[in-house]
Amino acid sequence: MSHTNAYELPDLGYDYRALEPAYSAELLELHYSKHHKAYVDGANQALADLDAARGDRDFGKLNQLQKNLAFNVSGHVLHSIFWRNMSPEGSHTPSAELETEISNAFGDIDSLREHFLAAGTSIQGSGWAALAWEPLSGSLVVEQVYDHQDNLANGSVPLLVMDMWEHAFYLQYRNEKKRWAKAFWELVNWGDVSERLALVRNVEVPVETRLRAA
Ligand code: MN
Repeated sequence: MSHTNAYELPDLGYDYRALEPAYSAELLELHYSKHHKAYVDGANQALADLDAARGDRDFGKLNQLQKNLAFNVSGHVLHSIFWRNMSPEGSHTPSAELETEISNAFGDIDSLREHFLAAGTSIQGSGWAALAWEPLSGSLVVEQVYDHQDNLANGSVPLLVMDMWEHAFYLQYRNEKKRWAKAFWELVNWGDVSERLALVRNVEVPVETRLRAA
């Protein structure tokens, strides 16, 4: 089995200037065309390296290759969601379904905002804040993601993600993490988040099968 360029850089969906002044064209172009692209290339490389390791029956560097896979695929997934989470037109209105789930999980959107921004701005090192759907409880959760792939609840699906790596904001916001986080929140496209919730809401993680122990 071999994988050839399984991952591709998705279209941004808008012009590099579209998020100005909250997110500068220079920062957006660098972030998308260099940083995100590097994760796409890294993910394809990781699959190729794992194919080669199996072919050679040489698993001596397996730990590094497995980490490369997790890191780069996760980086690709999160950035792909991140671009669509932001809207050139500013915020759209959350769907009734999303409002209900936010209310059930957090009380209200201000409480979610406070938790989400704190999760993002208090990360030690590089990472993300994520609003995710957790299928076992059937509810929204806030996650604090280390790097791109650590500190996650398995099975959860990210719906809204805020990039808190320095490469995501330093060029424009310098060391002012909180100012970047507040600006991000104003860019959130709640229509996109609502659509993602509708798509994953009925997904089940099959922790049980129909075959049970006798
Ligand atoms: Mn990034």
